[in-house]
Amino acid sequence: QWQGLNELREKFLSFFESKGHTRMDSASLIPQGDNSLLLINSGMAPLKKYFLGQATPPNVRVTTCQKCIRTPDIERVGKTARHGTYFEMLGNFSFGDYFKTEAIEWAWEFFTKVLELPVDKLYVSVYEQDDEAYDIWIKHIGVAPDHMTRLGKEDNFWEHGSGPCGPCSEIYFDRGPEKGCGSPDCKVGCECDRFVEVWNLVFSQFNSDGKGHYAEMEHKNIDTGMGLERLACVMQGVDNLFEVDTVQNIMQHICRIAGITYKEDPKKDVSLRVITDHVRSTTFMVGDGVTPANEGRGYVLKRLLRRAARHGKMLGIQEPFLYQVAETVIHENENAYPELAEKKDLICKIIRHEEESFAKTIDKGTELLNMFLDRVSSDSLSMLSGADAFKLSDTYGFPLDLTMEIAAERGIKVDEDKFRELMEQQKSMARADRASKVKTSWSNESIADISAPKTEFVGYTQMSCGAKIL
Ligand code: ATP
Ligand code: MG
Ligand code: MG
Ligand code: MG
Repeated sequence: QWQGLNELREKFLSFFESKGHTRMDSASLIPQGDNSLLLINSGMAPLKKYFLGQATPPNVRVTTCQKCIRTPDIERVGKTARHGTYFEMLGNFSFGDYFKTEAIEWAWEFFTKVLELPVDKLYVSVYEQDDEAYDIWIKHIGVAPDHMTRLGKEDNFWEHGSGPCGPCSEIYFDRGPEKGCGSPDCKVGCECDRFVEVWNLVFSQFNSDGKGHYAEMEHKNIDTGMGLERLACVMQGVDNLFEVDTVQNIMQHICRIAGITYKEDPKKDVSLRVITDHVRSTTFMVGDGVTPANEGRGYVLKRLLRRAARHGKMLGIQEPFLYQVAETVIHENENAYPELAEKKDLICKIIRHEEESFAKTIDKGTELLNMFLDRVSSDSLSMLSGADAFKLSDTYGFPLDLTMEIAAERGIKVDEDKFRELMEQQKSMARADRASKVKTSWSNESIADISAPKTEFVGYTQMSCGAKIL
C-alpha cells in the first residue's frame, strides 16, 4: 500500500513510542562535542555520549529520525538506486535496556504487521558467528532458512576503533530480478539494486580494546538504522530514492528549470539525481550553520555545490539555479524540520552567493580543463599534471575531486601527490602572509558580504533537540 515519506516517518516514531521509547528531535548535522566526525552520518552518532556513559539519556529507550550526510557515498549517488549523500535515518535505541530479542521482534512487527510488507520479499543477514541472532530469527520469528544469510565482519560487524562494538543483522527487501544485475549468483549482499538493505540492527555487546580482544559488556545496547527514503522507495514501489514523493518534487523543479523530462535520457537522469541529492544535502548543511570554506565542513559544502553546478551545466542550465531548487527542498521538509523555514532566506542567499562565485569561472575552467585533457590524450601522457590541477583549483575554483571526476570520465588520472604538494606550499605562504595582516577568513568575508544575521547560527552551540553540549 502506497505511503508518503512523511507518513512513514511518523509511523515509525509512533510505533516505537508505543514500545516505551522517548522521541527525540534530529540533532544538528554538525557534531556537538565530538571531533572524530566532520558531519553526522548515522542516527547513532549524536547519541554516542549516551552509549559511552558520558551523559544520561532522557530514557533508556529512545527513537529518532536523524538527518545524515555521507559524502563517502558520493560516487554512487545517482548511479545506484539507493544512495544519497543526504538521507534521513530512522532508529530505535536501547541504552543498557532491551537487547536482541526485542529489537528483532519489533523490527519484524513493524515491517510485517504495521507496514504489511510481504514476508516472502524479506531477507535477513546476520554476522556469521552470531548464532544467538540466527536462532531468534529462525526459531522465534519463524523466518525461512533460505531467507537467511550469514555475512562476514565487513558487512555485519559494527566496529569503530576501540570501544563498544558488536554484530549486526540487516533486513533486505527483494525488489525482484528485473531490478537486479541479472547474474545467476545474485543474492543478498550483491552490489546491485535487487536486494536492498533497508534496516540495520546493531547489537553492541562487546567492548573492544582495539587490539582484537572483545569483552562482553555488562550493559548491552541496541542501535538500529533504517534509511527513510529507502523505506519509502520500497513502500511506493518506485525505481530509486529520487522518485520517492517528496524527493521527486525537487527533481521535477530541476526538470522545469532545464526544460527537460525525466526518463528520456539516462545520462541526464544521472545529472538530475545528482543535483537533487546535492541540493538536499547542501540546503540542510547550510540550515545547520555550515558555510562555504576551503577546508573542513565548509569545503564539503563547497564541493557539493560546485559538483551540482557542473551537472546543471551538463543539462544546459546557464544561470544560477540551485538556490531556487533549495526553496523546494525547504518547502518539502519544513514541516519535519522547522529550522529550514526559519532560515530560508539565509540558506538561499548563501547557496546563491556560492553559485554566482563559481559561475564566473566554471565555463573558462571547463574549457581549460578540456584543453589540458586533450593534450594529455594527444601526447599519450599518463596523467594530468599536478600543476594543471592546481591552476584549475587556484584560478578557477575547481575542487580537486571535481577535476579528477571530469578527467576520469575520459579515463585520465590526475597527479594528486604533486597537487597536494603545491597546495601545501601555497598554504604555508598564506600563513606567513596572514601573520602580518589582520585576520579575515574567506567564510567571514562572504557572510559579511551578504549581511547574514549573526544570531541565526544557533547550530554551533545548541543541539536542535535542546540537549546541552558536553
Ligand atoms: P549500504 O550497504 O547499502 O551502503 P550501509 O550498510 O552502508 O548501506 P548502514 O551504515 O548500515 O548502511 O546504515 C543504516 C541504514 O541507513 C541502511 O540500512 C540504509 O537503509 C540507510 N543508508 C545507508 N547509507 C545510505 C545512503 N547513502 N543513502 C540512503 N540511505 C542510506
Ligand atoms: Mg554504505
Ligand atoms: Mg551494508
Ligand atoms: Mg548496514
